[in-house]
Amino acid sequence: MRRALAGAVCLTAACALVHRGTPAGDALRARRLMVPVAGVSPADVPDTFRARRGWRGIHGAVDIVAPRGTPVVSADDGRVLRLRRNRKGGITLYATDPTQRFIYYYAHLQAYGRGITPGCRLVRGQVIGFVGTTGNAAWREPHLHFQVMVRGRGRRLGGEPIDPRPFFVSGGRAR
Ligand SMILES: [Zn+2]
Repeated sequence: MRRALAGAVCLTAACALVHRGTPAGDALRARRLMVPVAGVSPADVPDTFRARRGWRGIHGAVDIVAPRGTPVVSADDGRVLRLRRNRKGGITLYATDPTQRFIYYYAHLQAYGRGITPGCRLVRGQVIGFVGTTGNAAWREPHLHFQVMVRGRGRRLGGEPIDPRPFFVSGGRAR
């Protein structure tokens, strides 16, 4: 699809320079992301960002496998943009960082965490949900689908995907 292909093209270094001066990579590094699943270290996050996903192009996200019900924690400070159920992602959450430059998308949740509402503030490590298989995830493979996007100009929930793996600085730990 057009959007997925644009995302793939935009993973080149030149294209990372477009957004408001600072390269997206530098800005994302400054966010000091936490792996968003409790008990999972950065080294345990599999490299699935560039996995081919049929006609849709690349995956553009990472799938973090964990037992059903494992706490999903906020990768960063910020706030919830939207809670939404959709066919592919199941129970999902969109959040942004304090600079509102990035979108964080969490999918296949079993449920949301206590007190998680649209617009609520988030702190890194806060429990925002639980690992599940809602949407199109296989029942036997509970995992968190986690996507980081450089928020597109004028776009509320979308943008170019960026591989979060090089930017995780700490393992998932619920506060
Ligand atoms: Zn996925």
